[in-house]
Amino acid sequence: MKEEICPECGAVLTEGKTCRDYLDTMIMWDFQDFLGVGQIHHLTVLCYGLQHPATYSQKGLEDAKDFLREFVHEKNSFEEHDKRNRERLSSNVRDWKIIGTPEDHGSYAAMPHWTIRTPDVAMPGLEGYPERVIAWAQSIYNEIQ
Ligand SMILES: [Zn+2]
Repeated sequence: MKEEICPECGAVLTEGKTCRDYLDTMIMWDFQDFLGVGQIHHLTVLCYGLQHPATYSQKGLEDAKDFLREFVHEKNSFEEHDKRNRERLSSNVRDWKIIGTPEDHGSYAAMPHWTIRTPDVAMPGLEGYPERVIAWAQSIYNEIQ
């Protein structure tokens, strides 16, 4: 089987899939809300973005790191987290953009050595997915400190 390496996070990719394809699968689970996994959605997107920093602007990446720190360190509930996120990211109060462009995108001085990457979370399937996302968030937190 032909293997490729994701240029952004270093994941080993097989079957011609990209990390983005795996993210799309997880987003589909989130929106179907099987077993109540929909609440994990923001964290999934956050973890993906932190490992693919060019999806964010520089400022967006810094904000994403704060958001992860709050989630992991302060153990905020999803409800609190969602509410604060909505307040913070509402376009009425935000005068900077989150989405990366070729001119302004996030990056790390050195790529952190990720221990859990997008395919690791998605490939085992829906069962155990929320637990894997929480472990993913914790691992990213540990690696970007
Ligand atoms: Zn990747």
